[in-house]
Formats: sequence, structure tokens, C-alpha cells
Amino acid sequence: MNSSIRAHFPILHQNVNGKPLVYFDNAATSQKPLAVINAIKDYYEQYNSNIHRGAHHLAQLATEKYEDARKTVAQHLNASEREINFVRGTTEAVNLVASTYGRQNVKAGDEIIVSEMEHHSNIVPWQMLCEDKGATLRVIPITDSGEIIFEEYLKLLSEKTKIVSIAYISNALGTIHPVKEVIREAHKVGAVVFIDGAQALPHKKVDVKDLDCDFLGFSGHKVFAGTGIGILYGKEKLLEAMPPYMGGGEMIKSVSFAGTTYNDLPYKFEAGTPHIEGGISLGVALNYINEIGLDKIAAYEDELLQYGTHKFSEVEGLRIVGTAKEKASVISFLVNDIHPYDLGVLLNQQGIAIRTGHHCCQPLMDRLKIEGTCRASFAFYNTKEEIDVTVNALKRAIKVLS
Ligand code: PLP
Repeated sequence: MNSSIRAHFPILHQNVNGKPLVYFDNAATSQKPLAVINAIKDYYEQYNSNIHRGAHHLAQLATEKYEDARKTVAQHLNASEREINFVRGTTEAVNLVASTYGRQNVKAGDEIIVSEMEHHSNIVPWQMLCEDKGATLRVIPITDSGEIIFEEYLKLLSEKTKIVSIAYISNALGTIHPVKEVIREAHKVGAVVFIDGAQALPHKKVDVKDLDCDFLGFSGHKVFAGTGIGILYGKEKLLEAMPPYMGGGEMIKSVSFAGTTYNDLPYKFEAGTPHIEGGISLGVALNYINEIGLDKIAAYEDELLQYGTHKFSEVEGLRIVGTAKEKASVISFLVNDIHPYDLGVLLNQQGIAIRTGHHCCQPLMDRLKIEGTCRASFAFYNTKEEIDVTVNALKRAIKVLS
């Protein structure tokens, strides 16, 4: 699919340190197609205005585009528009649910379950809630290959469990968790489930009705839209019953010193002037990937993953960290006792962008008894040739560092 697709991404066509850029840091943030870049430019050149409040032409146009984006997100997730809340990203989505649903429903003695391989943003807000309420955070252990141990999860579930929160796909290892089964079992004990969709949305179709998740958060910047925008999906009846998150303009129906009444969904959770062009860019980005086709994207990325796994494994001394049966296009690896950062620096000198470190998953690194890994993460605009270039550069770097 590649040469025509790559033409949509201007940033890919540059040299870094005298070599053609190889961008393998897509799990951290993805690059933006021209459709998204132009949508942001058009917003500022043609109709920049605050939304929802204006009678004038520009305000109406901006409102229309922003609400169209909400419709696109709702259709994409198979949700209703009332269930789609614009937030800053996955981190804010988790914090919002912890601070509202959590504050309202979790009490002393209750339990919240996460997995051992969550991103810090799907651990710390729950820890804060537990501290506040006297609740306990329970952790699903994982195997050495990076899969959750399902029987152990079942043992953790009880009538004390109020919330289960788990990533659909691990950013550090690429594991695709069996979230549908996780959700089904949590519901049997009456717990609600938050799905961290940050790494799932760029790679696969996510249908919240089919999953039956109660909440799902994701970040626009990982799914080819701008930064600082994301989505919290919540089931309507849960969102209706939750207190607001932040107070301010937009989230109210009326304000007086005698008291305030809150706005209807989804505006109840959207205080203040939102990230208007970010929201618009998210709608454009989702339309863009849907035009290519998520099935096609998933199949091509799987091909890259298989090819990359094979090629990387051939490098002497290289060990892939995270070998789950179900994986997205992420390859985490270590080479002998070389520090990941040193490899990252030498690859950068060859124009290759990978990520090194703990990937915001320190508890996972503790479990695996490592400090961090090198991580190459692929998007649909990457190629097998780029994998070959990287493997050759790796071999050279290893020689220098050994
Ligand atoms: N969860 C996962 C699995 C992630 O990969 C990330 C970002 O790397 C986050 C949450 C946090 O996303 P953001 O920083 O966009 O809020």
C-alpha cells in the first residue's frame, strides 16, 4: 500500500543526520497526513472562532465542524454522540473517570484492578483514588512472554471489585489483551471496566457496543490527529449519573449564587473553550484511516510485525521482549548487556527514530527485571525496506558498542 500512502505524510520525506528518516516511534506519537495538517491550517485561515456561543458565521462554521467531528468519533466507535466527550487525551480520560465515577462509587475496602503492564497513566490515577478512599489496587500478574494470566485475574475478581482498568494493547510490548473476556468477567461481579484504547485505535477497529466496555479513552495524537485532544467514551447511563469533572463555562445550564445546574451530555464534561482545531483534526484523521480501511491497515501492519520479528531475531545477541501470541506492530528488544539508550543514540545517527527506556511502564520493567528496552513501533506508512535499514544499522551499532 506504501508509496502512495507515504506521499500523504510530508514529514517522512526528510533526511536526519544525512540519512533518510526512518520513523519507528509510532507508539509514542504518529505522524500526520496532509488531510489533518490542512484541516488545522484551514481552521486558522478560514474560520477560527469560539464555538457554541456565537450567532455569527465563523462561530457557526467552527461549531458545525467540531460537532461533525464528534459525530465521526461516535460512528467510528459505534456509540451515540452523547457518549463522546472531548478530553485532552487518554491520561485525562482516566483521570476524569477516577475523579468522578470513582469518587462517587468507590469506598473504603473496595478494590480496583489493573494489570501489571499498564502505562503509568492507567495506574497512578487509580492509586490516587485508592489512597483517597481507603480502597485497594489489585494487580493482574503477567507471564514472561507478556500476557495477562487470566486465571489469576478471575481469582482477583470479587464483590469488592468496583473498577477494572486495562489497556487494549500494551504500548511497551504490543500485547493485545483479551479485553472482551476481561469485560465479561468483570461484569459478572458488578464492576465497571475502563479500556485504555491509546494503542488500539491506530491499529484496529474498536466497537464499544461489541466490547461492552463501560468507558474507553484514547488520544488523538496516536491516531494521526493533533496533540492535546482525545476522547472519553462512557455508557450514557453512567455518564448521566456521574458528577461533573471541571466547573466553568459550557458545562452549565444556568448559574446563580443560589446554585448551578449542569449541562446535558456530552457538554457536562467539557468545561471551558475546548481544543477546537484538535477536535476537528481528530474527525479528519478517523475519516482518513477509514478511507484506507482499518482491516487493510491491520493486515499490512501484521505483515510488518512478522517480517520485523524475523529480521530482528536474526541479529546476534538480540532478544525480543514481549512475545505474546496476539501482538500489534511493536517490537521491544534488548541486545546483550548494551544499554538501550546507547543503541538509540547510534540509530539516531543513522536517521532512525526508535524509543528507549521504560515506556512509562516502570512496574512492568520491575516485573521483567530490566531497566527498559529499545522499542520499534510501526505504522501503515512504514516499509520492509525501513526494517532492513534498521537491522543493518543495528548490526553496525552493536559492533561499535561491544
Ligand atoms: N496508555 C497507553 C497504553 C499509552 O501508550 C499512552 C501513551 O503513550 C497513554 C496511555 C497516555 O496517553 P497520553 O499521553 O496521550 O494521554
